[in-house]
Amino acid sequence: MRVLLLGGTGEARQLADIVTAERGFEVVSSLAGRVREPVLPAGAVRVGGFGGVDGLREWLADNAIDVVIDATHPFADTMSAHAAAAARAAGVPILHLRRPGWAEQPGDRWLRVPDPAAAVRAVAGFERVFLTIGRQGVAAFAELAVPWFLIRAIDPPTGPVPPRHRLLLARGPFTVAEETDLMREHRIEVVVTKDSGGESTAAKLTAARDRHIPVVVIDRPELPAGGDRVDSVAAAWEWLLRNR
Ligand code: NAP
Repeated sequence: MRVLLLGGTGEARQLADIVTAERGFEVVSSLAGRVREPVLPAGAVRVGGFGGVDGLREWLADNAIDVVIDATHPFADTMSAHAAAAARAAGVPILHLRRPGWAEQPGDRWLRVPDPAAAVRAVAGFERVFLTIGRQGVAAFAELAVPWFLIRAIDPPTGPVPPRHRLLLARGPFTVAEETDLMREHRIEVVVTKDSGGESTAAKLTAARDRHIPVVVIDRPELPAGGDRVDSVAAAWEWLLRNR
């Protein structure tokens, strides 16, 4: 069975580890090529966009793909939509693997917002903002001259950035102690995050809770309709075995 595994997440790498070790499966992992030094999954890897829905549909046919696993990040909604449309056009089953979002805990001071534009409005009135949403969302905050931003991302933002900021290039996981020190050192008043879910970047939420700092949480986009969906690597692997 030939599997296209759309990746760029820890879950996709874990699934690639499992599938490449099993007889009877051939897996090609796909990365967008956004990160300069990506952590590569086991097995065959291709890098770069497919050229939209039509490009992906052709790629599926040319590579005799039997199933598509969309294990992209919860906020990679364009890729998920393209994958769903291309799989449907090619008559290939698709599974969306999406880890659960974060849940508010007692003591949290969260403000859930539907999109980055609402997050921009939510930080009005604060002086020192910790922006931990990846480099792609930073441009939405570029017009804000008043708050000072600590911007953390793996690679530098390529688009506009807010005038008053400090850029911290770092890749998780981070510990609660590290996040607490960072928030203390920069006198952070509010944290802005996407509801990415997962363990590797959750320490900032604990640190914010401990320090009574509010967190603006940007909600996830919807998954496309149709296709199957699971929320764990183990369930994705079971799905593959069932559909073999
Ligand atoms: P996106 O906005 O949903 O996708 C934009 C375009 O990038 C897609 O139309 C596709 O180009 C290409 N692309 C995206 N993921 C791809 C993949 N795995 N393989 C091949 N092409 C891909 O995607 P994004 O939010 O920029 O995310 C890009 C990658 O980074 C994804 O692999 C995602 O899992 C990972 N990532 C994203 C975030 C985030 O916050 N968005 C966080 C961590 C990791 P074509 O139309 O040309 O095919």
